[in-house]
Amino acid sequence: MTAQALLRTLPPIMMQSVRRTYSLDVAAPLLRTQGYINGRWTSAASLFPVLDPATGQEIAQVSDCGPGEAKRAVDAAYEAFQSWKQFTAKERSVLLRKWYELMTQHKEDLAKLITFESGKPLAEALGEIGYSASFLEWFSEEARRVYGDVVPSPFKDRKMLLLKQPVGVAAVITPWNFPSAMITRKVAAALAAGCTVVIKPAEDTPLSALALAELAEQAGIPAGVVNVVPCSRENTPAVGQVLCTDPLVGKISFTGSTATGKVLLKMAADTVKKASMELGGHAPFIVFDSADLDLAVKGAMASKFRNSGQTCVCSNRFLVQSGVHDQFLQKVGEAMDRELRIGHGIEPTTTQGPLINPRAAEKVAHQISDAVSLGAKVLRGGSRLDGSYVEPTLLADVNTSMLCTREETFGPVMPVIRFDTEAEAVAIANASNVGLAGYFFSQDVSQIWRVAEALEVGMVGVNEGLLSCPEGAFGGYKQSGLGREGSKYGIEEYLEVKYMCFGGLVP
Ligand code: NAP
Repeated sequence: MTAQALLRTLPPIMMQSVRRTYSLDVAAPLLRTQGYINGRWTSAASLFPVLDPATGQEIAQVSDCGPGEAKRAVDAAYEAFQSWKQFTAKERSVLLRKWYELMTQHKEDLAKLITFESGKPLAEALGEIGYSASFLEWFSEEARRVYGDVVPSPFKDRKMLLLKQPVGVAAVITPWNFPSAMITRKVAAALAAGCTVVIKPAEDTPLSALALAELAEQAGIPAGVVNVVPCSRENTPAVGQVLCTDPLVGKISFTGSTATGKVLLKMAADTVKKASMELGGHAPFIVFDSADLDLAVKGAMASKFRNSGQTCVCSNRFLVQSGVHDQFLQKVGEAMDRELRIGHGIEPTTTQGPLINPRAAEKVAHQISDAVSLGAKVLRGGSRLDGSYVEPTLLADVNTSMLCTREETFGPVMPVIRFDTEAEAVAIANASNVGLAGYFFSQDVSQIWRVAEALEVGMVGVNEGLLSCPEGAFGGYKQSGLGREGSKYGIEEYLEVKYMCFGGLVP
């Protein structure tokens, strides 16, 4: 299609985006493009481009770190661990708090980086910076509450203690959909516990990670405690190999797809590393006849269309009971018309940015055409647009033979399945080998308890479409992962328990 023909087919807001050019104007110290190893900004032998997914334009060239840089970063982190673990909890807490304050101070520029490298609308990017910084704040507080135990001894001449100690160097591998928050959710907990880190951000979004390192340095976090090795997709397997196999790394903490998580777990097995895995989801969103429908529509809009459907806790399968099915479809369709605007994320009116790259848009378009070929009805949207854009799409008459109900979509598609009984809904919801988040809307108290307990997921939204905050325990059942992030449990992932038996005492 020619550019002119394309422009004629686009909604007005998007035509505006396609015609304009956008440039990233972020203050120099925050726009870092080299790796950060042992407190030094470090160039690599080659560079890789970072693209604005809204336009395909290059916004930066970043050092393409390889296994050599990864090894140097691990060595630096191991060296720094020897002194970082000796800092008092209060000293670590003060530094994390300072880092939090700097993030808050620079939130506008940090948000712009997210918008330009991931496509996320600016208001959402600002929300992510608040969320990301909140982990530094939370774990600056949790750092001071790592208690051990004094255990009643069965022997008169011995005392028993359980001490908590940091695991060591943590390798942190993160995805592009929350380029800032997925880093702090791990790194804040790790540093609070006394660990040091080597971060490998996603190829698509290294700039947010490097800006975080700049602010860590400004906060006074010592050299080697935080290291960042950005790399291209070509170098990723070799860098991953170092991070998952080097004996100096004590822990691997990963957020990303279930497929990649399995690869990393297998690599980490040889040196028996501790592992935290935040993997893919396939969240059910159930609306029962007793639901407050307006609340359910609000929850559906928030949990489906945030970040254009690219969050691991996004609702993927909408199950709506027969008594409210038609009304729900009508109301949610009207809300989509009213609230969703496609465009470049930097435009204040935009609520729906592009997907991360054309490959992602192609996958979503394939799920839509598969559903349509098997009998789904398109009530809104349905088309892939230029570049990485996909129209927000509402599908009715969906059944469980369709791809969109069997695999994670990671795009703005709302497939609606009609059901009759609670048991049927719970069975469909649980028919998945992953179980990260699940949502349901009901005003029946007994049903709320039954369904909340029956869903095989790590997080349940009851009459609520947004769950994430540092106080909550984030993590999944089944193949959605291992361990929890945030909450009082997040720091435990970076701690060992040492049993100390104090003998020879004279009673
Ligand atoms: P991905 O393809 O698994 O990539 C995630 C990270 O792993 C990227 O940094 C990627 O690097 C890296 N990676 C890939 N292969 C590797 C290897 N062999 N060694 C070392 N690193 C490797 O996932 P994604 O597409 O970026 O993210 C989307 C997925 O993340 C979805 O499934 C989503 O549900 C999940 N997610 C889960 C959570 C959660 O908390 N549970 C949160 C957010 C996202 P490259 O960029 O260079 O490929």
